[in-house]
Amino acid sequence: MAIDDKIEIDLELEKRQIQNAYRSLLRAAKKVTEKEELKKIRKAFEFSLEAHKNDRRKSGELYIFHPISVARIVADEMGLGSTAIICALLHDTVEDTNVTLKDIEREFGKTVRKVIDGLTKIDEFSENTSSLQAENFKKMLLTLSDDVRVILIKLADRLHNMRTLDSMRYDKQLKIASETLFLYAPLAHRLGLYLIKSELEDLSLKYKEPEVYNEIQLKLQKTADVRQRFIRRFYTPIKKKLQEEGFDFDIAGRTKSVFSIWNKMQKKQVTFEQVYDLFAIRIILNTDLENEKAQCWKVYSIVTDFYHPNPDRLRDWISTPKANGYESLHTTVMSPTGKWVEVQIRTQRMHEIAEKGFAAHWKYKDGKVKDNNLDVWLERIREMLNQDDEDVMEFISDFRLNLFADEIYIFTPNGDIINLPANATALDFAYEIHTQVGNHASGVKVNEKLVPLSSVLKSGDQVEVITNKKQRPRPEWFNYVITGKARSGIRKELKAAEKELAAQGKEILERRFNNLKVNFTSENIDQLQKYYGIDNTLEFYSLIAQGKKDLKKLRDFVVKAGNIQFDKAPLPESDKSGPLQKFISRPNLNKETIIIGQANDKFDYILAKCCTPIPGDPIFGFITINEGIKIHRTNCPNATQLMSNYAYRVINARWESREHKEFSVKLHFTGVDDIGLVNKITTAISKKSNINIKALKFDTNDGVFNGETTIEINDTEQLAGLISALKKIEGVFTVERIKTKDFYNA
Ligand code: MN
Repeated sequence: MAIDDKIEIDLELEKRQIQNAYRSLLRAAKKVTEKEELKKIRKAFEFSLEAHKNDRRKSGELYIFHPISVARIVADEMGLGSTAIICALLHDTVEDTNVTLKDIEREFGKTVRKVIDGLTKIDEFSENTSSLQAENFKKMLLTLSDDVRVILIKLADRLHNMRTLDSMRYDKQLKIASETLFLYAPLAHRLGLYLIKSELEDLSLKYKEPEVYNEIQLKLQKTADVRQRFIRRFYTPIKKKLQEEGFDFDIAGRTKSVFSIWNKMQKKQVTFEQVYDLFAIRIILNTDLENEKAQCWKVYSIVTDFYHPNPDRLRDWISTPKANGYESLHTTVMSPTGKWVEVQIRTQRMHEIAEKGFAAHWKYKDGKVKDNNLDVWLERIREMLNQDDEDVMEFISDFRLNLFADEIYIFTPNGDIINLPANATALDFAYEIHTQVGNHASGVKVNEKLVPLSSVLKSGDQVEVITNKKQRPRPEWFNYVITGKARSGIRKELKAAEKELAAQGKEILERRFNNLKVNFTSENIDQLQKYYGIDNTLEFYSLIAQGKKDLKKLRDFVVKAGNIQFDKAPLPESDKSGPLQKFISRPNLNKETIIIGQANDKFDYILAKCCTPIPGDPIFGFITINEGIKIHRTNCPNATQLMSNYAYRVINARWESREHKEFSVKLHFTGVDDIGLVNKITTAISKKSNINIKALKFDTNDGVFNGETTIEINDTEQLAGLISALKKIEGVFTVERIKTKDFYNA
């Protein structure tokens, strides 16, 4: 009883903990949703609680704590509304419990179903290889086109999993941390979720390189006091002046994250002590929308009255926000102690967007917020995703390239602004305008001057692309571009060109083979490739098309004994022309219904008696020693043996067309002995038009009837119809097409 009591108490405790967790979620939700929405959230919570009631996480805690935590991140840290909170509560129900998407739709409606569906498709913790992970990631991005909440909830889910990674096995920790660093942190960055991005990075580092993480963490703590003193001394005069001018503002120093310090140490090969800018000063203004820009510049002017700015490091992301929506005014100024200090000036609204990213845009949507930048970005991703023939790893690396890049702003001839990553070239710009503009770009004018396609652009350049229909991408173009869009455009075009070239080469080779009376089989092509020393068939063909492979040697090659192989079996000494030529020299005029080999060549053939193929049967040709090519059905009892032991004598064959020609088929019946049965069978056969009975024999044994008939028939379709008609006759047990095993005597 004592043990039972203990469990009782634990369950009670858990219940209370669940209620507490739920109540904190409600508090967070109240800030982002209307009152009537809270009922729906309660419903989702209860639904999830019931669905997960028997599930526990690796740590041993009840599973429900996970969806509640994810919902809290969604509400608190991303500022998303009730739909997202509901979806977060339900996010693992379809994946991990008996709940179906139908249940979700019935209880919570279509929108929630769509988001849950998107989340369920991203299968997270399966033991997969890197390429599968990449595939997964691509799938996730695909859902962007449906509802961006899928991605945001996925990020919240990942964040909570990272926060609770302790209970996972070591190898899993490494895998999840790497994946987070590789994909999720950049994605958070791109969506403008700076706080989440930094936390994901820090947590990843903590699990991937615990010593490094702990060391930097410790040094940050040790230097905190000195830093605080410096920060205060730096901003005190500014603060005083801003107050005098009547600004409503906050000012604070912001320490860089562990990860970004480590990143800087790595990149610049310096020690912790040498990373001078461990913090930035941030000034956040409370002002109305109309005065935002003017106020920020006024503050800039005050700051630079006290400290001298570095003109190269002024960043105006207010006039031209980043593609992810980030708005802020950054300057780097010289402090009295000789240190460069970054100062960030922004409004409360800009700040919220900077920290919570995309979600904050929704909140300000009613105001005059320019969120079309983000739409442009989402549109670009959709475009990339639609090129689905691409290699997934290539896609991911292009995508990451775009995620990390800094941006420049280029003007079109009409004065429109185009965002490009820093170091983008004129050709990147052309591809950014349109893939076809890129493909046909023959020249570029930057600020009215003609420049090479490879010219690197700088912010503020005005660029005009000159196109020429005859222009095509060349392989060296890869060296001219840095954007994913341009790379994939060039890659696609080059692949298409190579395919076209290969098709031409294949045709040329096929013609030469025919002239030399050699069959165009993959086996022969293989031999030839070996002779020329080229592994890749497509490459081989395109080299031929370009005239880079001398086909004059082909004749030598064919003439040399043993190169082109059609028959390794002993041949009559007298047969010097080889087995194939023998058949080519005897074209058959009567029965042109089978195409043999890969070319459209027609050889003489005979139909094997063991399986008596008829049009429609899957077939293959077999080169016999004395009887030429024999056609067998692929399911012929002899086929396996023939194909495995004499593979080099097997050639492709297919029926050219269905001509009305008769083929013999043998059928075997069994049934009960009945006087009328023979009559019924012959009537059934002759009722079908075009079927002639050539032979029929019956015998009976102890009341069991055995029959065999040879009929003439057009094709498999007709045969199938006949067999099913025969099977319907009362007293007939089985009807089977006869195949004999005895191949050589057949
Ligand atoms: Mn989850």
